[in-house]
Amino acid sequence: MVEYKCFKCEKKIKSAALEKRFVCPNCGGKIFYKPRTKVKKIRAV
Ligand SMILES: [Zn+2]
Repeated sequence: MVEYKCFKCEKKIKSAALEKRFVCPNCGGKIFYKPRTKVKKIRAV
């Protein structure tokens, strides 16, 4: 599942919640961004 972060209040919002309304349930903000997911470490052999 994808999680977004609200640009205003910086709270995490699950993408499922945004599918209904693309509005932050906490502050009503409409700007979101994806927090960086865990960086994949690739080791070259
Ligand atoms: Zn918010």
